[in-house]
Amino acid sequence: MSMLIEHLIRPEIRGLDAYQVPDATGLIKLDAMENPYSWPEGLHREWLGALQAVHLNRYPDPQGNELQAVLRASMGIPDAMGLLLGNGSDELIQMLALAVARPGCGLLSVEPGFVMYRMIALFTGRGYIGVPLRAGDFSLDLPALLAAIAREQPAIVFIAYPNNPTGNLFDADTLVRIIEAAPGLVVIDEAYAPFTDRSFLPRLGDWPNLLVMRTLSKMGLAGLRLGYLAGPNEILAEIDKTRLPYNINVLTQASAAFALRHREVLDEQAQCIRAERSRLFAGLSGLDGVLPYPSETNFILLRVPAGRAGELFASLKCGGVLVKSLDGTQQLLADCLRVTVGRPEENGAFLAALESAL
Ligand code: PMP
Repeated sequence: MSMLIEHLIRPEIRGLDAYQVPDATGLIKLDAMENPYSWPEGLHREWLGALQAVHLNRYPDPQGNELQAVLRASMGIPDAMGLLLGNGSDELIQMLALAVARPGCGLLSVEPGFVMYRMIALFTGRGYIGVPLRAGDFSLDLPALLAAIAREQPAIVFIAYPNNPTGNLFDADTLVRIIEAAPGLVVIDEAYAPFTDRSFLPRLGDWPNLLVMRTLSKMGLAGLRLGYLAGPNEILAEIDKTRLPYNINVLTQASAAFALRHREVLDEQAQCIRAERSRLFAGLSGLDGVLPYPSETNFILLRVPAGRAGELFASLKCGGVLVKSLDGTQQLLADCLRVTVGRPEENGAFLAALESAL
């Protein structure tokens, strides 16, 4: 390693591998929780027409006001609450971490949980506290969480509801206990909201420290990179100061507003994904030695026979299907793979490939 790098780059950054996105060329892509459906041809043409009114020579609306209004109406965000847009919800997590950044105040989440909470804590120089979920059903361990909150006094608690990578929905009353015990902000991350009927959005305002974060990625607009954070105005006004100017580009603003005006198409696709999730779950349950975990998301976590995750992942890839292997990432995920719910024929191909590999 050159002296320059050794002197310049923080050791914790030097110790990292860059975020890896595997090449999916030619494969059935079931690794990244994307919506597999595209739009009907007429709608696609209409969207291209709408883009003609976009001026690429101008900076975007700095607050994305038109898009904010469409989002508010479409998602039912309470009028009294503020709204902040991010270049994906990843950027919102980063803005939150930057805003509270102060030595000695960490970010807390559960393990296994969404990896970016931990990564962004590290990028921003904050401490990270990961409280293990219960082995067996991946439920929240309330006594352990309350003890960690009391001991560490975290600036922000992030809880994905439903959780990634486990797919389950935590008990709402337990979450309330966490919101009430937390000395700082609690961000309920509802990235998978299209695939569950439960939400904390209507409860915004019930506690001064509750924020709800969502993304358009999983509902079918992953390419746009748009996340949103809703919560009390005076908190969001502070977080907003860490936002880079013009963070939501003109194409995203115009396209997301267009898509949300045709929300019924996205909702119908989410319904198809939910129906396919049941079919995929039943298919996995029927495979000897495979344990799928119940899911309220657009993916399913599955445990395969001990010691075989790596080999099965490779066989699936050879058979043309890309999933995510979580084996080796942490103890609770030993022998686990995660598969995104795809189109019926993609799920069928995955099940057939897994059965033959087993
Ligand atoms: N939260 C959770 C729980 C996620 O699983 C993801 C993506 N996998 C995100 C946030 C980030 O979503 P995006 O940056 O695409 O909005």
